[in-house]
Amino acid sequence: MNTEYEVLIIGGGPAGTSTAAILAEYGHKVLVIEREKFPRYHVGESLIPFTFGPLHRLGLIPTMKKSHFMKKFSVSFVQPDGRRSQPFYFYNRYDRDTVAQTWQVMRSEFDHMLMDHARGRGAEVREETTVTQLLKDDNGKVIGVAVKNKDGSTEHLLAKLVIDASGKEAFASVREGWRVGDPYLNKVAVWTYYKGSKREEGIDEGATTIAFVPDKGWFWHIPMHNDMVSVGVVAEGKYLSRDGVRDPKAMFEREIGENQWIKDHLSAGSSTGEYWITSEYSRHSKYGAAPGLLLVGDAFAFLDPVFSSGVMLALKSGVLAGDAVHAALEARDLSPQRFSEYSELMRQGIDNMRKLVYAFYDPNFSFKDVVMKYPDAGDEITDCLSGDVNKDYSSLWKKIREFAPIPDGLPYGVP
Ligand code: FAD
Repeated sequence: MNTEYEVLIIGGGPAGTSTAAILAEYGHKVLVIEREKFPRYHVGESLIPFTFGPLHRLGLIPTMKKSHFMKKFSVSFVQPDGRRSQPFYFYNRYDRDTVAQTWQVMRSEFDHMLMDHARGRGAEVREETTVTQLLKDDNGKVIGVAVKNKDGSTEHLLAKLVIDASGKEAFASVREGWRVGDPYLNKVAVWTYYKGSKREEGIDEGATTIAFVPDKGWFWHIPMHNDMVSVGVVAEGKYLSRDGVRDPKAMFEREIGENQWIKDHLSAGSSTGEYWITSEYSRHSKYGAAPGLLLVGDAFAFLDPVFSSGVMLALKSGVLAGDAVHAALEARDLSPQRFSEYSELMRQGIDNMRKLVYAFYDPNFSFKDVVMKYPDAGDEITDCLSGDVNKDYSSLWKKIREFAPIPDGLPYGVP
């Protein structure tokens, strides 16, 4: 039995390593347990403006500014016939030197940077080590984890708190039966990476483009450094697999023809060969904390990535959780109730973003219609889409509900 750590973190993605960096900075003994050897592949390359906050808190803005990651200043939308909207430049609303400039990141490199940062702050990270079980006492309180080490040996690690940052795998919520799917956002994504394809010029080179497939779905087009582009299509599974097509490459290639701008941009380059598919879309954990356990990042809630909110939410949850856990350790009170405020903030942020995702997928909805009727809604929509998710948007939801049904919040909490 190893009892040398105060906190054990399952998973070394952005949520896990940001939590670890904050806790280590406070001087806590923390171990991140990561299944893979970094750098490892991960999808999810586009950051949004309010990722600035957690990156700033982590002290990583200078590193990001010096990095070779593609600078992202805007987002634009493309109709199926190839007509591209004027890009929306974040600096029309936010400070040019801070929030208004964000990045398109190759996740293998970005996540490795975050891991190195956590190590630099004093956190320990064990790679190629898999958590296989949550260990509990007789009252059901989580007291540690069982791990399988690289050499095949197994070990029990005990700590005051276990943090689940295992991503979409949602280690704890799956095992505890807390995972709740979203019946409406049950999409499929197919994606690949192109090299040498056409991209916009100047300040628009790093823009995210959302390109629509008639009535059915949408493409993401995310230009990165090294002449690479992340490009994927999202739609209902039934639509993507129509006529019996099951091969992700065939699905992807068929959809290219459904959007003229995508077809034109990709025709100059070629796929790097590998195609990825996922049907695991939005879902959340009923609870954010339980005795001895706290959930962060996708392990807490995973939302359809149409608005690229995942990494921002993962880093934000890591920073908030780091502060909350430090306060709880100082107070010698790690009861789940101590994390109610953290869970509530994350729940509010994810719910706000989720409402815009629902509206986006409503076939009769257009953000333009809302802004035409309510010009002041434009800034609120921009703020929420940019990641300023913890504001009171109740007046915006009232306006949007005139155009599309959007859900009330889903319950999260402590058992
Ligand atoms: P992860 O980054 O998944 O990290 C979890 C880590 O835990 C992994 O390294 C894994 O190896 C490790 N792990 C899991 N189980 C165990 C175990 N048992 N033991 C040890 N280690 C374990 N987000 C954006 O911000 N922008 C985008 O453009 C975007 N696009 C996306 C497109 C698609 C198709 C998908 C599916 C997601 C997208 N996302 C995007 C979401 C984004 O990828 C995630 O929200 C983000 O990676 C969450 O970070 P995390 O740290 O919670 O989890």
